[in-house]
Parts: sequence; structure tokens; C-alpha cells
Amino acid sequence: MATDIDVMSEERVGLQSFSLLGKTALVTGGSRGIGKSVAVALAAAGANVAVNCYTGCKFAEDVREKIRSFGRKSEVYTNNVADEIAVEKMHEAVMNDFGQVDILVNNAGITRDKSFKKMTKEMWDSVLSVNLTGVFLVTKQFIDGMADRGWGRVINVSSIIGEHGNFGQANYAAAKAGLIGFTKTLAKEYAARGVTVNAVAPGFINTRMVQDIPDKAIEWVVTHTPVGRLGEPEEIAAGILYLASEPAGFVTGHVLDINGGHAM
Ligand code: NDP
Repeated sequence: MATDIDVMSEERVGLQSFSLLGKTALVTGGSRGIGKSVAVALAAAGANVAVNCYTGCKFAEDVREKIRSFGRKSEVYTNNVADEIAVEKMHEAVMNDFGQVDILVNNAGITRDKSFKKMTKEMWDSVLSVNLTGVFLVTKQFIDGMADRGWGRVINVSSIIGEHGNFGQANYAAAKAGLIGFTKTLAKEYAARGVTVNAVAPGFINTRMVQDIPDKAIEWVVTHTPVGRLGEPEEIAAGILYLASEPAGFVTGHVLDINGGHAM
């Protein structure tokens, strides 16, 4: 049944509906922080949501229950996105449960911060393997199904750090900058097949990831953020919701900054 918003949008102003009814989304790292907000927001807009997690799957089960409470379908998948075999298994399981994925949000990410002098190869490898290779592996499994059906949305969670660099984050900045090049390339390769590929670049967002940053550094960030605070996960979810929507079909290869005006 059409909602008031659908009626107003389509009949009165000629705008397509933002509803995601009938779509299925996969959110990697959907157990907490930004991924949790994204999974819930996509479901609130009507999508069924496959929630990926790795070490925090008891939180992912809460996300699944919240989504089910909206009357949407949801399942949890415990798979390391950096492990090729685990990602293949996730693809098989998601396909068995949902039949297809229309919207992929590559959100899973980690930090292993140290100044470059002290950064080990292990710290470099672990961040690159989750934040960049993980996105390659998951996208590889799901994007061609979207292209075959002629409709899809891939949204990669990059970072302000990938655009500007940051002290102590050479590994993270390299991975997040790499994600921007990956996004722009896939956008070109898949545009003609109905799949848009975009990124969001959040500023500093109030999640577990920023909890280890010293108070003094957070104070510096807030002082240099024109909006004057950290962002909230829901504010990133709102941008992703737009990029996932039907009306965003002419947006591809874009990096959406959601950072309170922070230019670092
Ligand atoms: P959190 O630490 O709260 O969440 C990270 C998520 O990634 C968790 O759900 C975690 O799952 C998942 N994850 C980590 N490693 C893996 C893995 N190997 N396989 C599958 N899932 C994994 O951080 P945020 O919510 O802040 O971060 C989400 C994304 O946003 C990341 O890509 C991050 O780089 C990016 N970002 C965050 C910013 C911030 O200021 N917070 C700023 C800019 C970008 P689990 O807990 O189940 O292991």
C-alpha cells in the first residue's frame, strides 16, 4: 500500500520513492557502530537485511531482532571479510536465505594505529586485508548478480583519513584512499549495467573506533569541526540510505563527505 510520502513524491512532485521495499541489502560489519545504524536504517526504509559480523555477533543478533521487529527479514552471517573462503561461504549462505542482494554496504573496518616509524608489517597487512582486500572479496561475490539483474547499489565506507591522511594512520589512510580509487573504477565499469558504486567519507564518528583516541586529540577534532561535535552513526546511515535509493540512480563514482565541515 502506498504511504503518504510515496503518494506525495510520485504523484505530486514527480520524485521517485525512497522506499526500499522488495530490496535485499548486505551490510558488512553490521554488528555495531556505523554498520548497525546502516542495517537498521535500510530495514526501516523497507529492505530485508543480511547482517555480517565477525567478533561481535551477539550484537549482530540484536540488530537482526530489531530488523525483524519492523516486519523485515534478517539473518546474521559470521564471516571474516578478509578471508576469501569465508566470504565465498557467506555468499552461498546469503543466496540460500535471500536469493539475491541488491544493495551492498562495505562497512567492516579496523584500525591499527602507530606512527610510521613504529608501524609493523603485521599492522599494515591486517588493516589492508580487512579495509581494502575485504571490500574486493565481498564485492567480487555480489556485484555481478546485481549487474545481471540490471539494478544494484554498492556503497563503500571510506574515511576523511583516506582523503587527507592522519598522523599514525598510514595503513588506514592507504586502505581508505585505495577504496576511493576502487569505487571510482567500479562505477565506470558497472554504470551501463544498472549498478551504481559510491563511497561515503565520514569524519570522526562516535563509535568504538574513536574510543581509544586520547581526549586531547578528540578535543582538537571537535575544535576543527565547524559543526562543533563528533558525528553520530545515524548521520552516516542517512547518507548511505540516499545512495542506496532509487532516486540516487544518477549518482555514481561519488564520494560523499559526512564530516561536519571538517577539512583536517
Ligand atoms: P566499529 O569498531 O564500531 O565497527 C566496526 C565493524 O567492522 C564491526 O561491526 C566489526 O564486526 C566489523 N569488522 C571488523 N573486522 C571485521 C572482519 N574482519 N570481518 C567482518 N567484520 C569486521 O567501528 P565504526 O562503526 O566506527 O566503523 C565502521 C566503518 O566506518 C569502518 O570501515 C571505519 O573505518 C569507518 N569509519 C569510521 C569512522 C569513525 O570515526 N568511527 C570515521 C570514518 C570511517 P565485529 O565487531 O563483529 O567483529
